[in-house]
Amino acid sequence: MSDTFDIVIIGGGPGGYNCAIRAGQLGLKVACVESGSTLGGTCLNVGCIPSKALLHASEMFEAAGSHMAGLGVKVSGVELDLPQMMKSKDETVDGLTKGIAFLFKKNKVTHITGRGRIAGKGKVEVTDAKGKKSELITKHIVIATGSEVTPLPGVEIDEERIVSSTGALSLSKVPKSMVVIGAGVIGLELGSVWRRLGAKVKVVEYLPRIMPGADGELAKQATRILKKQGFEFHLGTKVTAVEKLKNTLKLSMEPAAGGEITTIETDVVLVAIGRRPVTEGLGLQEVGVKLDARGFIETDHWKTAADNIWAIGDCTAGPMLAHKAEEEAVACAESIAGKAGHVNYDVIPGVVYTSPEMAWVGKTEEELKEAGIAYKKGAFPFAANSRGRANHQTDGFIKVLADATTDEILGVHMLGANVSEMIGEATLAMEFRAASEDIARTCHAHPTLSEALRQAAMGVEGWTMQM
Ligand code: FAD
Ligand code: NAD
Repeated sequence: MSDTFDIVIIGGGPGGYNCAIRAGQLGLKVACVESGSTLGGTCLNVGCIPSKALLHASEMFEAAGSHMAGLGVKVSGVELDLPQMMKSKDETVDGLTKGIAFLFKKNKVTHITGRGRIAGKGKVEVTDAKGKKSELITKHIVIATGSEVTPLPGVEIDEERIVSSTGALSLSKVPKSMVVIGAGVIGLELGSVWRRLGAKVKVVEYLPRIMPGADGELAKQATRILKKQGFEFHLGTKVTAVEKLKNTLKLSMEPAAGGEITTIETDVVLVAIGRRPVTEGLGLQEVGVKLDARGFIETDHWKTAADNIWAIGDCTAGPMLAHKAEEEAVACAESIAGKAGHVNYDVIPGVVYTSPEMAWVGKTEEELKEAGIAYKKGAFPFAANSRGRANHQTDGFIKVLADATTDEILGVHMLGANVSEMIGEATLAMEFRAASEDIARTCHAHPTLSEALRQAAMGVEGWTMQM
């Protein structure tokens, strides 16, 4: 028996569920096929949410154990209750995934549990956990199958001692030592969690710097701060093997360009060298959906090469971020409904939830130089911000880059406490194509950390006042 829909979405992550909800709001008959037992995809189940829950809890643990004493708050007998920390994280995830199921009901989205495959034009075959197959008939298909961990050849992930981000979110005890392979977002965030809880964390990164996509000056300062916290970085280094011994792991590494091999023993290895799109077993080739050279589904305004088949989120090119998937989800649903779907790919913020946090939007200095764009720069350190001083949150700075001729803001880069919340102001300014002077002449409440953004914007014209 087959059911008929306007849209069938394959995948129930931030791409899929937001597309389904928006389509439902627009009055379309929509089904979302998700192979997992809960909705929310990587983000809610094994990504953004559980990692931020552990980042927050571990930051509180570290603050209670050391940082608060300097503010005159003495806490004695601080103890880690790891099972409770994990339980609290799991409850958050559970509540949020159920929240999506509720939103599906509210917006009349049909949730189908099973593995989806495109069986032909306008047909999606669903196989449930018992192997039973059914067929859905639809006008449009949206592929939102997301991404999965990129494996490192020769290093077999067992999710106990050699873990991906998924295993690193549920370790049953704090390892004495952890080696993180890859100094990207996952490596720095989950490395921070386990360092704060007591592990000695070493990071092995192939490139000569951390966070390759981020502004160079920001990454440099972040490296210095993270080292002070106890991170040990082996940059420009590649892992050649991880051998499982009875009680430890023996990791071999050598300079990226080749050279002498050194070994380290460690309890846990976290492989965090990136993620790759999920496109296998979807029947894409048969219906004419094309992949690019890196294996992402090729799209033009979320349309694939095949008629009425669309793709959004991590399985398509661009930053692998939940809010990028969400933007595309809304634009795709609106385009299918005949509206003008739009995503401004120049203004997608990025955040790394370390302590201090890193956040940015727009172009880095390196990108502007490479593109030959003349720019002016204003910067302001949190050490000179009154709220930062009062809170003992003086690490980091904010930098505003503006077009040398028009003063339009081209990029904003932040390293500091709570910058994940402050990047929204810069993002909104850029969405409205604001000049740096617009931020510089906007009244900001005093004393706030956000005054550092205003001061950095004032610095573009050289009239920073609070130094
Ligand atoms: P996904 O969330 O991967 O969802 C795809 C869904 O499709 C999955 O549920 C999968 O089960 C399902 N699926 C796949 N194939 C099929 C099939 N054939 N049939 C049915 N269902 C199928 N991003 C941020 O913006 N902020 C963060 O703080 C952040 N933290 C992260 C932390 C970690 C540890 C990780 C791993 C990722 C993090 N991300 C973060 C990235 C974010 O999770 C992804 O960008 C986002 O989930 C992408 O959404 P998506 O819908 O494209 O794919
Ligand atoms: P990443 O791309 O951020 O970092 C991977 C790092 O591994 C890079 O620095 C890369 O140079 C390095 N690397 C690659 N191969 C290597 C090798 N063989 N040896 C040593 N180093 C190597 O990837 P990730 O940290 O795995 O995260 C995956 C995705 O998940 C990212 O695209 C990110 O957008 C998303 N994510 C986002 C957030 C967030 O927004 N806060 C948090 C976690 C994950």
